[in-house]
Amino acid sequence: MRNKVRCLIIGSGPAGYTAAIYASRANLEPVLYEGIQPGGQLTTTTEVENFPGYPEGITGVELMADLKKQAEKYGAEILSGNVTAVDFSATPKKVTIDGETTVEADAVIIATGATAKYLGIPDETKYSGMGVSACATCDGFFYRKKNVAVVGGGDTACEEAVYLSGLAGKVYLIVRKPYLRASKVMQERVLNNPKIEVLFDTNTIGLFGENGVEGAHLVKHLGEANEEKYDIAIDGFFLAIGHTPNTKIFKDILELDEVGYVKIAEPSTKTNVPGVFAAGDVADPHYRQAITAAGMGCRAAIDVERYLSEKGL
Ligand code: NDP
Repeated sequence: MRNKVRCLIIGSGPAGYTAAIYASRANLEPVLYEGIQPGGQLTTTTEVENFPGYPEGITGVELMADLKKQAEKYGAEILSGNVTAVDFSATPKKVTIDGETTVEADAVIIATGATAKYLGIPDETKYSGMGVSACATCDGFFYRKKNVAVVGGGDTACEEAVYLSGLAGKVYLIVRKPYLRASKVMQERVLNNPKIEVLFDTNTIGLFGENGVEGAHLVKHLGEANEEKYDIAIDGFFLAIGHTPNTKIFKDILELDEVGYVKIAEPSTKTNVPGVFAAGDVADPHYRQAITAAGMGCRAAIDVERYLSEKGL
């Protein structure tokens, strides 16, 4: 392990690995720390069919292994380790790994991703990869002509419900409040869609099924006098109750938006601290796709290369 590097990349999803491929091919000799979930969110999905270049599809685990291999081929050093603290107050920046070692870096790319929020019911884990998903764009295709449910009442949930209505036979939208939080236009799209049934005032208490999800146990008016429990038959259960960007260690160090996403000066990947760049879901509340994250990783590596050469580092 080197204790001084030119380009340090935090995170091993599509953004981190793509940044590592570009930075290593630019002779920046990058070091990438994988974090607590090597390969990132894609390693929790099954088949990936929308990443260009894989006409037959590929599993998330294989795709990430390929990206890692490609980064290593050009000299990127991929290390296991979790970044637990950063000090960006001077250059070189200081990054602490696993609370122990400190590495200095002339430039840093943050690609720590985001984590989908789950309801916290045990059945979500039990049926993980067997009907439970937090990404309709990734997994919706597997539910053609089947019945599915989306949980959430925000823009993401509405967007996912509309997307799924183009594939599935029927879509339930499970909303815990008596109204949708989504923008007016998205609400209208949902409410006017004959394939979507909105279940207001409804919470999910469990899932059931033999070899995968076959239905959900719901409760209407939870905790009220007219509380009513019932089941729906579904094959897919999609969470769309928000994402949490993985930015805890950057709070009060980098400028974040109100939700916690790193703010970047688009179209660049520059954060408010010179020499620190961000790519992928950690800085993108809108698209959150593997391919868009990879594109941002590429941009971040190019931004680092230009920054280092401007500074003569
Ligand atoms: P939001 O935080 O806006 O919405 C989350 C939804 O999930 C809310 O309806 C919330 O309910 C519900 N929810 C949260 N926790 C639970 C729970 N434990 N059980 C049941 N329901 C729960 O997140 P989004 O991901 O939808 O959007 C994030 C941001 O991105 C927003 O600013 C949104 O406008 C934006 N966005 C914009 C898009 C666009 O413009 N095309 C597309 C997608 C997102 P409650 O209302 O009761 O709190």
